[in-house]
Order: sequence, then structure tokens, then C-alpha cells
Amino acid sequence: MPMTGVVEIVPPRPALRVQAMAVAYGGIAAVREVSLRVPQGGIITVVGPNGAGKTSLLNAVMGLIPCGGEVWLGEQNLSALPVEERVSAGLCLVPERRELFAPMSVLDNLLLGAWRHRARGAAARRALLDQVFARFPRLAERRAQRAGTLSGGERQMLAMGRALMGQPRVLLLDEPSLGLAPLIVREIFAIIAELRREGVAILLVEQNARAALAVADRAYVLEGGVVTLGGPAAVLANDPRVVQTYLGAGDPAGDAASPLGEVS
Ligand code: ATP
Repeated sequence: MPMTGVVEIVPPRPALRVQAMAVAYGGIAAVREVSLRVPQGGIITVVGPNGAGKTSLLNAVMGLIPCGGEVWLGEQNLSALPVEERVSAGLCLVPERRELFAPMSVLDNLLLGAWRHRARGAAARRALLDQVFARFPRLAERRAQRAGTLSGGERQMLAMGRALMGQPRVLLLDEPSLGLAPLIVREIFAIIAELRREGVAILLVEQNARAALAVADRAYVLEGGVVTLGGPAAVLANDPRVVQTYLGAGDPAGDAASPLGEVS
């Protein structure tokens, strides 16, 4: 029977849903029952101090380490899948240490990122490469250079470019600002905002809370493996507990990101 006068609003399915994620090393818990959702085309950030469990959370979502809980990519349950099948499904991690193939050229590192599209022809891979080079002109200039000789910022760009060669639906970014100079941090965060505008959903893990909160839609604070706060990023950026602990004046991470106000 048709309903009259009632409009049912069904919220869109999140791009990524993590349910009751738990990680332990040798019986010691590093991540405890963490649940979060990354909406389609949204940026969710997880901020927290050293050792909070941020990297463990991302590695577990990617299937790199054993964990409890569930990982859903849209309607697909990835929980039992190995990492390569998660990549094929559209999930991609840019690891904290960037993990490039140092002796290989920029170009070859990028082509490895197109592994998910190996069945497609050379023309498709060339088109992907052109897109990455358009986004990162510095990589185009240095396409023949060995990855191991790149600067820190260029390495981060290559790691992100390699991930984008797989055309991920959801990008997991682990500390993209780590060890980078303020101007490069600003450039990297501008690219993160641009990716969101193009519809890529992003789960961003950062110690640089100021930069992360400026670019994200929602944020979670992870402390001792537990989510202690969560909400819209703009609200958390003004929460006295967050301000005091993560955005305090003189915080070097905050200083590094201070020109970021305009990025969001
Ligand atoms: P950081 O910001 O310093 O990278 P993090 O928030 O990413 O820290 P994790 O690297 O996930 O935190 O570490 C969380 C906890 O798990 C820490 O106590 C760490 O020592 C521990 N841990 C991480 N990896 C391992 C491992 N392979 N074996 C044993 N313990 C580990």
C-alpha cells in the first residue's frame, strides 16, 4: 500500500564502516572496540598521541595484522579478506613510512600502484599516470629519478600518487605530514582536500591535530586504544580538552600547520 505524506530518508551507506575493531600484540591491547564510519566523499580523522593505536587501527583495517571486529567497504564485508583482495575492492593505505621501492624510479613505483588494474591495457595505465602527474607535477619532472633519492615531501607525494594509481574508493592515510616542513605539509593537506572534492573517501590518521581538524568533516580522538571523543571536526577543534591537549599554543605540530586555516 503506498504511504501518504511520509518521506522516508535512508542515509547513504558509508564508504567505510569499522565495527568493534580490536588489536592486541602478545596479549596487550593496542586498539579496543573502535567503531567508526567514513561517509562517501568525506574525510574522517583520527588524532591522538604517540602509541595511541592509530597505525594499528589502519593496518588492521587494511588486513595487514590480525584483529577482531568488522570492516565493510560499502556493502562488501572485507573482514575475512586478505590485503590484496581489499586492494582489489578499492581500499588503499598510504603507510606512515611511505614504503617506496627505493632503488626503483618514480615511474616504476607509480606503475606498481596500478596493480589493481593490471587486466586493463597500457592505454588505461597511461591515462592514470597522466592524472597523477597532473596532480603532482614534481613527480612528472622526476619520473626517472630513483625513489630513494627523493626529498621527504616528494616521497609523500609519490606514496600518495602510487595509491591513487589504484583509483581507490577509500584512502587510508597514515601521518602524511610526518617529518615534513610546514610549506610541504600545507601542500599535502591541500591535495587531501582536493581528493575529497573529487569524491574519494578518506580516513586520515594524524598527530598534527590542527591540520587534520582543519581538513576533516568528523574527528575521533584515540587515546590508549580507545575513542575518548568524537564529533564534527569543527566542534572538536573548539573542545577545551582537545585545545588543551592537542592544539595548545606553542605545540610544534600546531605551529607547523598554522597556515592551514584556509584549507578546509
Ligand atoms: P605513533 O603516532 O607513535 O605512530 P600510534 O598511535 O600509531 O603511534 P601504534 O603504532 O598503533 O600507535 O602503537 C600502539 C601500541 O601498540 C603501542 O603501545 C606500540 O608499542 C604497540 N605496538 C605497535 N606495533 C607493535 C608490534 N608489532 N608489536 C608489539 N607492540 C606493538
